[in-house]
Amino acid sequence: MSRGRDQPQAPSLRSSGARRYVRKDPTPAILGGPPLFADPLFLTRPILPDEADFDALMRRVFASSWLTNNGEVLLELEKRLRLRLGVEECAAVCNGTIALQIALRSLVEEGEVVTTPFTFPATVHAILWNGLQPVFCDIDPDTYNLDARGVEAVVSERTRALLPVHVFGNPCDVEAFGKLAAQTGLRLVYDAAHAFGVFARGRPIGTWGDLSVFSFHATKLFHCAEGGAIVGADPEAFRRIGLLRNFGIVGEEEVEGLGTNGKMSELHASLALLVLDRVSDEIKARQRRYDLYAERLSRLGGVKFQARAPDAVHNSAYCAIQIDPQQFGLNRDQLHAALRAENIFARKYFWPLCSTNEPYRRLPSARPELLPNASRVAARILCLPLHGRMSEEQVNCIVDRIETIHAVAPAVARAAVH
Ligand SMILES: *Cc1c(COP(=O)(O)O)cnc(C)c1O
Repeated sequence: MSRGRDQPQAPSLRSSGARRYVRKDPTPAILGGPPLFADPLFLTRPILPDEADFDALMRRVFASSWLTNNGEVLLELEKRLRLRLGVEECAAVCNGTIALQIALRSLVEEGEVVTTPFTFPATVHAILWNGLQPVFCDIDPDTYNLDARGVEAVVSERTRALLPVHVFGNPCDVEAFGKLAAQTGLRLVYDAAHAFGVFARGRPIGTWGDLSVFSFHATKLFHCAEGGAIVGADPEAFRRIGLLRNFGIVGEEEVEGLGTNGKMSELHASLALLVLDRVSDEIKARQRRYDLYAERLSRLGGVKFQARAPDAVHNSAYCAIQIDPQQFGLNRDQLHAALRAENIFARKYFWPLCSTNEPYRRLPSARPELLPNASRVAARILCLPLHGRMSEEQVNCIVDRIETIHAVAPAVARAAVH
């Protein structure tokens, strides 16, 4: 599998569909110029292994006729993930949402779970799906993570667990949450869907809290098309997780309790093994592109980057910028529209806030006045394309174009629908 360790190939500007940058006529497409890119430049592209390597693994799987249920490839994947993630226990499952549901179910039977509104809907859905009550709490305006002091203030005698998210892979204040959980006897589960390969305060991210949950969806840094994992250290919790993942079945003729089907197939585990060979190169490639964005864009008035934890190893999975409409001259939606006209597919993650969606908007904790930071960040946030298959030249072209759009902001504001 040595080919799997090849550097991800950055396609040339031309072959990836990028129209040559016209320096003489940089009229933004929203004002009638030609789009910067002939084909869409997406937010992310999945790591893809060598097809021949995948075929070879598929031959092995087919020869065994064993397609799921604790197959050989799954066991190998779980072993490699334990090493890569620096954790004692790892249960691979069919997706990150089921991972959240099973993780919560293994620890919490009833009551309230405190979480963030600034996340992907799955975080909050998993709480309600399990028959628990989500309670929203505001985020820190700079790190975008749940604010630990705010969480302390909303914990009540009904609270059973905390579910913070390491937003865009930026570690939460793990020490504050750990201390709060220890003092109050609450369970602590991290949604680490974005945080593959991250370290916080010298420790692998999955070693904090009772359990951490990863998503291996195709849009995530590490993926296997659809998949996820629960990691932690308590063998007793992982015995329960193993049962919950497989219908509660303990033996051929015995079901111990409630369970679901959370299993990962051998086909998905095979893809995961091959993608795992390439994830370190992908992190390095994203890091370089992130640094380039940050170095150039943070010089622009009204563009702010996420405040990343200083004592952490980051994975640079996402490049999220905040647009201050007064300083930048355009609001986030206007910049988003201008970029879309250029065929640049930036995304408004996480807009709208989960607390403004059904079925949560009428919860007492969902009131916007209780969530001022989350509301402001959600209205200003924009994730820019970032993945190892885009070239650094493409990053420079995008930044050049954002500078131009900024320079002619009043005209763009008139042209944008918002
Ligand atoms: C992607 C994501 C999930 C859900 O994972 P799936 O594998 O898509 O089910 C949960 N939480 C967060 C923060 C995510 O970004």
